[in-house]
Amino acid sequence: ERKAMLATATGPGATSDGHRMPLLANIGGPADVAAALDAGAEGVGLFRTEFLFLDGRKAPSEKKQVETYRQVLEAFPEGRVVVRVLDAGADKPLEFLSPSEEPNPALGVRGLRALLDHPDVLRTQLRALARAAEGLPVYLEVMAPMVADRADARAFADACREAGLRAEVGVMVEVPSAALRARSLLQEVEFLSLGTNDLAQYAFAADRQVGALSRYQDPWQPALLDLVAMAAEAAGAEGKSCGVCGEAASDPLLACVLTGLGVTSLSMGATAIPYVRATLAKHTLAQCERAAAAARASESGDRARAAARSVLSGE
Ligand code: PEP
Ligand code: MG
Repeated sequence: ERKAMLATATGPGATSDGHRMPLLANIGGPADVAAALDAGAEGVGLFRTEFLFLDGRKAPSEKKQVETYRQVLEAFPEGRVVVRVLDAGADKPLEFLSPSEEPNPALGVRGLRALLDHPDVLRTQLRALARAAEGLPVYLEVMAPMVADRADARAFADACREAGLRAEVGVMVEVPSAALRARSLLQEVEFLSLGTNDLAQYAFAADRQVGALSRYQDPWQPALLDLVAMAAEAAGAEGKSCGVCGEAASDPLLACVLTGLGVTSLSMGATAIPYVRATLAKHTLAQCERAAAAARASESGDRARAAARSVLSGE
């Protein structure tokens, strides 16, 4: 018994019948790397690069960025590191990127939109990433936040090509339109990563910073699960990957449901990784699929959670 516990305390993520589910860490910079390694993260699924520059008044220099990114990339030899380009705006304003006044910042010029308005900032970041990865055995992936349509995905892929970046290029799915047309986005890029925090915000038209609306942030909501399923199925049909890097991935039961919906990796705060690993290891892929179907057939987030729990504990 004790040996079995220890066996799941480290090692790659997988269901009890061996369906692989890479468990990756969400980080905000080099300071978070040690915790990710301690938790046995198989890499980084979301490097929120904007966290490094929240205090800055000016765009960070290429040199400073190269140094910082290299510290992270060096920590995961042979591992995957998914870097998100600057996600400025709304809950994460960057003085050098975000418009000063907007009536609805969450619906405004944020994420990729702000970068496309400042192509020099995007170019510098992509070049810094290319230089940071030079000569390292790491598997670098780069993704854009707040992608709404195929034109966004194409603009980002073009920018990556123009910067000479040798990395897998992907987009986050955090706007419902991107989930609805995921297959079309995948004509431009190689992978999807579901940002369930913003996907919930935009699917339910409920600002994630307004406490009075927090019930809409519940990642168990069946409508959110439907959008996740849609993106995962599109990626499956295209033979491409579709991870989850929002808070949803850090709930062990929901991680099983996401696995059952067909997502291909889970990224979360490091402290959640051992719990997700242990819970996944107790269930087969078929059980996860049944839990996912039961959750989606439910009428509310609470009922979806209860239905999945009953499937996963009853068998
Ligand atoms: C998300 O929106 O789910 C996400 C992972 O990005 P952030 O929380 O940084 O907006
Ligand atoms: Mg987001």
